[in-house]
Amino acid sequence: MENKQELQSLLDRTAAVCRSLTGSGRQATYIPELATVDPSLFALSAVTLDGAVLSSGDIGARFSMQSMSKVMSLSFALERLGYDEVFSHVGMEPCSEPFNSIMKLEMTSDTPLNPFINSGSIIMAGLLAERLGSGVIDEMLDFASRMTGNKSGLAVNERVYRSESSTADRNRALAYFMHSSGALSFEVEKSLDLYFRLCSIEVGTDDLAVMGATLANAGKNPLTKETIVSVDTSYTVIGIMSVCGLYDESGWFAVKAGVPAKSGVSGGIVCAVPGRMGLAVFSPPLGKGGNSVAGVEAVSRLSKELKLRGI
Ligand code: GLN
Repeated sequence: MENKQELQSLLDRTAAVCRSLTGSGRQATYIPELATVDPSLFALSAVTLDGAVLSSGDIGARFSMQSMSKVMSLSFALERLGYDEVFSHVGMEPCSEPFNSIMKLEMTSDTPLNPFINSGSIIMAGLLAERLGSGVIDEMLDFASRMTGNKSGLAVNERVYRSESSTADRNRALAYFMHSSGALSFEVEKSLDLYFRLCSIEVGTDDLAVMGATLANAGKNPLTKETIVSVDTSYTVIGIMSVCGLYDESGWFAVKAGVPAKSGVSGGIVCAVPGRMGLAVFSPPLGKGGNSVAGVEAVSRLSKELKLRGI
């Protein structure tokens, strides 16, 4: 088990160094509400498998999950609908195009490459909305709260949701294109609405690090000791995080940091290191691939110092 004092001091040192990188990169503005976030915020959390939560930096910072919600949605879908049904709608291969690219879909007219790009996640949302009906968002918020161990209960940030939903030309284009090709066989606007709500769930790095630790702990939340997902589901999700977690920078990140992770355009990265810990970092400015510049650096440094590399 990890030495907590050493881990805390490593987080503090990493936060101090990486905070200086918040001037590099640019925060996302295509969702107007994301442009209002203070770009200098930096927070880092680690959760060990014996249930210690350690954080550093702006630990009170709250932000939307964005694409990190795709980890939770996939976990939920696998538990509720099963592996075969989920992977009859999406693949599990990395994507060499940006997360919102329409090109691959048009070239192959096939199912989305994986559930962590927008097209794949919109299909997951449509599938869940159709199977579970109007209560789906409450069920998923409850699942997300249990997976993150958040006692007050996670909720959708309505401002982010409205901002995202009213400026979503690109995601609408993806969804309607998939509907025309038959890849998305569910009601388009319902699929999108659930997708936007899931992206807008508000969290802190402590919540995300517990989510990562739950997967790293073979599906059992190390804080509450509740089994959230099966061992098989945790391995499936971690496998996809390993190869598809940072969009078209997943290969580069695997070489640089070597840990299963998932990023979001709010500037967060959540990591699940099997048998060791969950990690999460938040810093809004993004590099050209849409990943947090300071966040990638922080995870890489922690991976090296703690010898987490395992991909
Ligand atoms: N809500 C964002 C979008 O659909 C999520 C993308 C991301 O985090 N990469 O564009």
